[in-house]
Amino acid sequence: MFKPAKVIFDEKSLEYPLGKRLFSYFNEEDTEVIVNKGGRFIGKKAESPIQSFISGKSSLVVGVRKITEFQSCKPSANYQLPLISGCSGMCEYCYLNTQLGKRPYTKIYVNVDEILEKALNYINERKPKTTTFEGAATSDPIPTEEYTGAMKTAIEFFGSNEYSYFRFVTKFSNVDSLIGAKHNGRTTIRFSLNTDRIIREFERGTDPFIKRIEAAKKLYNDGYKIGFIIAPVFIYENWMEEYENLIKKIGEEFRDIDKKIEIEVISHRYTERAKNQILSVYPESKLPMDKENRTLKYGQFGYTKYVYDKEELERMKIFFKDKASKYIKNCIIKYII
Ligand code: SF4
Repeated sequence: MFKPAKVIFDEKSLEYPLGKRLFSYFNEEDTEVIVNKGGRFIGKKAESPIQSFISGKSSLVVGVRKITEFQSCKPSANYQLPLISGCSGMCEYCYLNTQLGKRPYTKIYVNVDEILEKALNYINERKPKTTTFEGAATSDPIPTEEYTGAMKTAIEFFGSNEYSYFRFVTKFSNVDSLIGAKHNGRTTIRFSLNTDRIIREFERGTDPFIKRIEAAKKLYNDGYKIGFIIAPVFIYENWMEEYENLIKKIGEEFRDIDKKIEIEVISHRYTERAKNQILSVYPESKLPMDKENRTLKYGQFGYTKYVYDKEELERMKIFFKDKASKYIKNCIIKYII
């Protein structure tokens, strides 16, 4: 669970029951509490990039979400569900590194019901087609779940609507509050996994591999659909052996299952902008971003990214396809990219 050092409340959030509850809670904790118009994060001047990053990562903003159109979320879902943005984890390759500015604070919204009302409009517009919402497009939603209960509320909301599905991904294991939620099989929770070596080296502040697997088991046993995202995959000495062990471990832990398990595999890629941002806050980073065995590729929105060479990617695809179908019963490989 995220323990912020500073919490900033948008004064409007205090008009909502959740805002009031969180305000009392944090005032009783050893936490700096600030209330202002708009929940503005005012940083200190003359901070280094590292100081700004750390102060952002240790802060929580409690706000009221303006109800505007949701962003699309292709290909895994129809829409992003904007309940949270940011994350207290400090993964060096976090996809949010270039999205949240110099002070990447976590922001939660107190008007969860209004956001879900908007989701309902989309569901009704698309009927009789089903509509899928992604709850982790701009966050890892689990570190703040105990404060807001937002995921549980969303799970039950979509669980009660036969025209909708919900999905999100996490690197955290604190899922006990989701056990027993009335999901009706309409939520898929995926766990992002990597080898122990990669988690230790690059995924600071997240939960260890084994805890994520244990959390996935609890959810599976509670009837949820679950999946694993193996990402980002790196090619390094012994990568095959270590990723094979990872897949074997999933297979062993989910030996006696009858439901399908989704597997997604994403190879490491980076943009020049992300590289600069990462090195500004992790100057000693050992992330492999040296263009060796990489190809420059044009992304969906016109930007360029460095991906592994075609031959390497092909090798990776064959490897993961082979090992996942060998070790994991009932697995569906959604994609390997
Ligand atoms: Fe980013 Fe996910 Fe790591 Fe959080 S857990 S820092 S969202 S990659």
